[in-house]
Amino acid sequence: MDPLLMISVLPVIILLGYIYLNDKNEREPFGLLLKVFFCGCLVAVLILLWSFIEGIIGIHLTEFAEDSAVLKSFFQAAIPEEGLKFLFLYWLIWNNKEFNEHFDGIVYAVFVSMGFACVENILYVFSGGFETGIVRAVLAVPGHFLFAVIMGYFFSRARFTPMHRGRLLWMAFLCPVLAHGLYDTLCFTMEMYGEMSGLSYVLSVLFIAFNVKLWQIGLKAIRNHCHICGAKIPKGEINCPCCKQLVEEI
Ligand SMILES: [Zn+2]
Repeated sequence: MDPLLMISVLPVIILLGYIYLNDKNEREPFGLLLKVFFCGCLVAVLILLWSFIEGIIGIHLTEFAEDSAVLKSFFQAAIPEEGLKFLFLYWLIWNNKEFNEHFDGIVYAVFVSMGFACVENILYVFSGGFETGIVRAVLAVPGHFLFAVIMGYFFSRARFTPMHRGRLLWMAFLCPVLAHGLYDTLCFTMEMYGEMSGLSYVLSVLFIAFNVKLWQIGLKAIRNHCHICGAKIPKGEINCPCCKQLVEEI
């Protein structure tokens, strides 16, 4: 296998395997997971197609964002990317009968996001080389994974908590946008001011701290909540306090 293709695809496969194997109670059907993954790939294609069309017609909707790291991160990456992932997730999964447990929302959101990350990663790695592949395997791909865990967590909360549905659905869109936007803002700022040693040191520390925090939030959403009903599991508990499901089984 081509080493560039391998380094592009391997982190995606590892993270998909990790989330799939964590869904221990009732595994999601393979066909539906594949469909959701390909729709994630389609998100990347649609975004590429859109920038191609913009180039042809000469109208750039987000041109105003070009010179600011914050605006660029939010308007050219976080909002369109997380927005389209969210729309596909909603369209394919919200009313699907397989979406019957809290953890399913996280599983499907990760499959959409990894479809996107897979196509984006192949494009970046084939133009940037093996070193780009290593950096993206450690940072960008896990980043997309964690934004999806956050999206899926709120998506499921919205589905199974009818009382606060509207607010939670907005959270399922806005929280990953915020995480993704801040992540990219730090990346773009590091690129802009990378040469200034003092500032680049501060930015690197901030970026590492932000990554650690994202992992903490993501792993908490995966491990500290009941996979069936989403209730928080207190430390040392054997059963879910809400649905009484054995924690070891989930
Ligand atoms: Zn439970």
